[in-house]
Amino acid sequence: MRTDMREADVVVIGAGQAGLSAAYHLWRRGFRSTESSESSDRADSTYISESSDRTVILLDAEQGPGGAWRHRWDSLTMATVNGIRELPGMPEVVSDPSEPSNQAVPAYFADFEARYQVPTERSVRVVRVENDPDAPDDPEGPLPRRRLLIHSVGPDGTSLPLIRTRAILNATGTWTRPFLPAYPGAADFTGRQLHTADYTRAGDFTGKRVAVIGGGISALGHLMELADAGATTHWYTRREPVFTEEAFTAERGSRAVAGVAERVAQGLPVQSVVSATGLFWTPTLREADRRGILERHPMFGRIVPGGVIEADGTTTELDVLLWATGFRHELTHLRPLRLHNHRGGITMDGTAVAEDPRIHLLGYGPSASTIGANRAGRAAVAELVRLLEADDELEA
Ligand code: FAD
Repeated sequence: MRTDMREADVVVIGAGQAGLSAAYHLWRRGFRSTESSESSDRADSTYISESSDRTVILLDAEQGPGGAWRHRWDSLTMATVNGIRELPGMPEVVSDPSEPSNQAVPAYFADFEARYQVPTERSVRVVRVENDPDAPDDPEGPLPRRRLLIHSVGPDGTSLPLIRTRAILNATGTWTRPFLPAYPGAADFTGRQLHTADYTRAGDFTGKRVAVIGGGISALGHLMELADAGATTHWYTRREPVFTEEAFTAERGSRAVAGVAERVAQGLPVQSVVSATGLFWTPTLREADRRGILERHPMFGRIVPGGVIEADGTTTELDVLLWATGFRHELTHLRPLRLHNHRGGITMDGTAVAEDPRIHLLGYGPSASTIGANRAGRAAVAELVRLLEADDELEA
């Protein structure tokens, strides 16, 4: 092994809800943190257990706790989020309902990290995960013998020491991969274009003519806020949105999750959350509908410098195109592992990649919610510990 290389049994990539759930269950199973020059001050951490020889490194690109919640817009308060499940081993998130989620949730995550002395290494971005070219290839066994090499960079982009590991728990979320569909004429638009990921406050759009594009919960939230802030809104979706009269129950949620799990087990690409759950009427949405805010246009034909050409051929003049078109899972650093199949998806077996049990994807597909992320962390750690034990027995 190279002298500048670090080694750990498991590396967790990402310290959002999914990564922290994994960190908790690793802690419970006695994993200890390895020490780097940057993290040697954590040597007394209660996270370090004498009961196990197994080691973990937890890397996160953010400067502080909170995962993607650090970046949600200010008006997404604890009253307007869908509901945030508590982290394992923690009480519920308690906050003033009017507190922005971009403050309340990071503070809660910080409490968790302090309570469990989670050894998160921050401002570390993993840029590439690959098979160790020097290691032997894949003999029979519960875990492929081949190790994984993790390349990462610090905040200034300089390369950090390579990490060699037996397995990864990838929990990198979606926030860093906003999805912007390619539309004819988009490059010529002279107004402002932004994605939900860049949206900060409705007040920026007062008096503007804004197209909100997308059929999900974020689009609905933007429409209502923008209208309240004095913008003129136009809503565009590819498909006619279907609102259901039924309440969102745990049973409906489970059915939606089971549907997504079925898709990823078949190796199909992951679909949006809304396509699995549908949209639910709430009193606020009914009021917005009554005010005409939810009048939907079919997707426009093309974008022109001053607006869009509607499906019926008329022109609508616009100042802003707000793309509420969702996110993709952030897996770009895993490309060298060629996890995608010919259908464009990744075939999953629970939280593990079906063909490579060294790699678990948390917060992916059916676990892309705070409750799902909790469950995925627990399930992935249980499975990984089983595999590591079986692997060690074989080696002994
Ligand atoms: P994240 O919170 O995104 O954490 C991923 C972490 O990985 C981040 O810290 C990121 O910096 C880090 N990372 C990414 N790439 C790298 C890399 N290459 N190297 C190192 N670190 C990396 N779900 C709910 O249950 N309730 C809600 O109310 C809710 N509201 C939502 C509102 C919006 C606008 C959006 C977009 C999503 C919402 N969700 C909600 C879904 C929510 O994102 C998930 O439930 C959950 O918070 C995601 O947790 P995560 O750990 O998978 O990802």
